[in-house]
Amino acid sequence: MDCVFCKIAKGEIPSKKAYEDDSVLAFYDLDPKAPVHILIIPKRHIESVMEITPENSGIVAHLFEVAAKLARENNLTEGFRLVANTGKDGGQTVPHLHLHLLGGRSMKWPPG
Ligand code: 5GP
Ligand code: ZN
Repeated sequence: MDCVFCKIAKGEIPSKKAYEDDSVLAFYDLDPKAPVHILIIPKRHIESVMEITPENSGIVAHLFEVAAKLARENNLTEGFRLVANTGKDGGQTVPHLHLHLLGGRSMKWPPG
């Protein structure tokens, strides 16, 4: 499948890894939007939030566990933002489920 994040998960495209286990990979965003900007993905291809089902939803809890671990390791003690852009209006550009972990600066609300 021609999916850039599947290729990163398989090591076919290099990435700067922040965390890896059997089912999840976290790596630094190529075009960071904050001092800390890490993408957390399931290794298995899931297109977006809209493809989460009772059968595959366990991975979602795991993505959040990894996010908390990375926030701790990056000393984001003042807080951070987790974002799952979904679909066209959500600004999703890579159709493989991912959480953005953004931190190291104060975030604006509402987002643009
Ligand atoms: P989205 O816009 O789908 O929510 O987020 C996709 C993110 O993936 C963007 O922030 C973009 O900078 C990042 N990205 C796209 N291609 C690559 C890549 O090949 N390597 C890395 N490290 N990040 C990528
Ligand atoms: Zn994929």
